[in-house]
This record gives sequence, C-alpha cells and structure tokens, in this order.
Amino acid sequence: MRQFKVTGQTQVFGIFGHPITHTFSPQMHFAAFEALDLQNVYLPFDVHPKQLKKAVESIIPLGIKGVNVTIPHKENVIPYLDQLTPEARATGAVNTIEITSDRLIGHNTDGLGFVKSLFEKNIDPCGMSVLIIGSGGAAKGIAISLLSAGVSEIVITARNPKKREALATRLRDYAPKSKISVFGFNTEGTPPIRSKQPLLLVNSTPLGMQPGDPLPFPPKYIDPDWVVADLIYRPNETPLLIAAKKVGAETISGLGMLLYQGAIAFEIWTKEKPPVKIMRKALLQALSGAKLT
Ligand code: NAP
Repeated sequence: MRQFKVTGQTQVFGIFGHPITHTFSPQMHFAAFEALDLQNVYLPFDVHPKQLKKAVESIIPLGIKGVNVTIPHKENVIPYLDQLTPEARATGAVNTIEITSDRLIGHNTDGLGFVKSLFEKNIDPCGMSVLIIGSGGAAKGIAISLLSAGVSEIVITARNPKKREALATRLRDYAPKSKISVFGFNTEGTPPIRSKQPLLLVNSTPLGMQPGDPLPFPPKYIDPDWVVADLIYRPNETPLLIAAKKVGAETISGLGMLLYQGAIAFEIWTKEKPPVKIMRKALLQALSGAKLT
C-alpha cells in the first residue's frame, strides 16, 4: 500500500450521481492512480437533480480534472456541457466529462466499453447480427457503439412499444443503411431473429439480478455458435450466462463493460494507458465485498 497524502498537488476527479453510495468507480480509479503513482483522488459526489446545473458549472472554477456521470444525470447533464462527442450525441447520454481549460466535453464510454469487452474475448462484432433485449439507457449506448463497430443488423426486443420504437428511430437516424427492427418482449416465444451471420445476444434488462427472476430469453433457442452477453455485473455470472455456457455458447459478463467504460474515461482524463488488470482486480474486490441490495 502506498503512502498517500493529499497535498497542494493533488488533483480531484469524481462521479456525480444521486444516490451515489452504490458506485464502484472510486475503488477502480484509486487503484489505477496508485498503480501509476498519480497523487489523485476520485470522489463520489451526491448531486441532487435540482443542483445538477450548479454542480456542473462548478467543475472548471474548482479545478476538477475529470468527472463521471451516473444515474439519474446521464441525459440531464447534456444542456450544461459545451460539446459532445458524436457517440454521446447519438446516444443522448453522457457518462464522462472531459475538462479542458475552458470547456466541458461530454463523452459516452459505456457502449465503447461494451465493445472493448467483446474484443478482449477476441470477438469482433463487425458483420454480426445482434439481438438486444431491453430498450433502456444501456441498450441505447451499446447499440450506437455496435453500429459504429460495423454490426450488420440490430433487432430490439423490449416490452415498452414506445421506447423500443424510439430506440429504433434513434439507431436508424445514426446509421440509416443498417437493418434495424423491433419486436415485443417474450421470454417464452421463438426468437425474433433468423440469422446466417454469427449472432450476438445481449441482455440489457435487469432480469437476472435478483434470485428468482425469469430468464430474459428462452435458453432452448441459444445456439452453441452464439455469443451471449449480459450487461449485469452483479452477479458476475447470471442465470442467462450459465444457461448459455451449458449450451456451449461464448459468454460475456457485464463486468467487462463496467471496467472498460472506466478505463476509457481514465485515458481521456489522464492521457495515460489505463492499468486494466489492476482496475479489474479492484472492481472484483469491491464487488465481492459489496452487499446485494
Ligand atoms: P433502464 O434504462 O431502466 O432500462 C432497463 C430495460 O429493461 C428497459 O427496457 C426496461 O423496460 C427493461 N425491463 C426492466 N424490467 C423488466 C422486466 N421485468 N421484464 C422485461 N423488461 C424489463 O436500465 P439501464 O440503465 O439500461 O440498465 C439495464 C441493465 O444494464 C441493468 O441491469 C444495469 O445494471 C446494467 N448496466 C450495466 C452496465 C455495465 O457497465 N456493465 C452499465 C449500465 C447498465 P421498460 O422500459 O418497459 O421499463
């Protein structure tokens, strides 16, 4: 353990959310700072939605060097930023703020983090067909990044017709030449996709977080040549992933997305190569010590 002292040189990073007690980002970023011998701190800021504008306006005056943004501020923070990356604009959500001397630049590293977690397992999504279950915030982020990565088709299956249509419209606006379709959510029925390409199935619903949750997809339709990803990281191996593994499919847990969204943010702020192994270890330690809520 290094001797850490806050001094006049200490740089401040942090995360804005409400509530914020659930976050694992401080452990992950502190471990990364320590590994690179950077005398920085990363703090959880519990920012009430009514105070979000003031909190964002304080970033530059206070000299804060980097900020993550989490629930419920990912969309509402946008009007207070000076610039958005194309991916953040297309997603309509920001999870990382880059700070220059006079500008706040909004990034979304969630989707790219997911894509990196695929590459880590030697899976290149380019040309794959993708079936995404759910149409919430996480689905939006990963779908945009998967389109940027060159997937051939995205099918969304979700229970809320308005939300799934809105997501499809957003994706068609972003990638007009891509094949995008939507279906109702059905845990029992046949899968709404017939694909000659290798298929990537992604669960972006919370089904699998609580014991007794139904599976978000009928395992009898999972093929051994599919890749099955779950965005849930607690538990690290969900019932869907266990069922997919049994069939022989490749599985990806949400831990990789959590890790790489943080690693990409770290690089944006510090311009240093993130110590991914150490960040993963810190996350696993934090997750194993955390109570299930
Ligand atoms: P969200 O915006 O609330 O979206 C959740 C989606 O799941 C919505 O489409 C919702 O449908 C659907 N859903 C919820 N309960 C359902 C049920 N019982 N049956 C069928 N559909 C259901 O949440 P989110 O931010 O996208 O997060 C989704 C999951 O991803 C969570 O488990 C979260 O922990 C995980 N996540 C992981 C990471 C990571 O870094 N690994 C990052 C972000 C999120 P309605 O719209 O109809 O409610």
